[in-house]
Amino acid sequence: MGLFAKDIATMDDLFVHQLKDIYYAEKRITKSLPTMIEKATSPELKQGFQKHLGETENHVRRLEQVFRMHGVEPAAVTCAAIDGILEEADEVAGEVKDKEVLDAALAAAAQAVEHYEITRYGTLIAWARELGRSDCADVLKQTLDEEKATDAKLTQLAESRINRKAAA
Ligand code: FE
Ligand code: FE
Repeated sequence: MGLFAKDIATMDDLFVHQLKDIYYAEKRITKSLPTMIEKATSPELKQGFQKHLGETENHVRRLEQVFRMHGVEPAAVTCAAIDGILEEADEVAGEVKDKEVLDAALAAAAQAVEHYEITRYGTLIAWARELGRSDCADVLKQTLDEEKATDAKLTQLAESRINRKAAA
């Protein structure tokens, strides 16, 4: 994010800027998940991605709600970090031929995305509370909980089956 942009003068500006950054990221993720669903072979992984696509669409709506609660029009600013994570995921997935190894690569790529989201929402919640917007923090917390649950589910899937199948 453009931390040195001259339009960021206050903590409130910083909060809104980071909202725009994660708004861009969530929208970008809704466009990548269908490809990941298509590429996944493991039914559990496919189903997990499918479920998270529905949740991610809801994350976009929750962010729009937070923008409005804060009196700001929803808008996105390019998030180079999520672009990089997703481009790298595409590259790796494109190079993997073995279906089970591809599943391991997809699960790992999805976890990189979740971890990015977890760090962003964690910060946004802390800043919202600092700014006296615990109402916004509560909405953002619902999303954070879903990101954490998804990450945990991916760890469980990877460690219980996907990695073993890929290594076999
Ligand atoms: Fe999300
Ligand atoms: Fe997510």
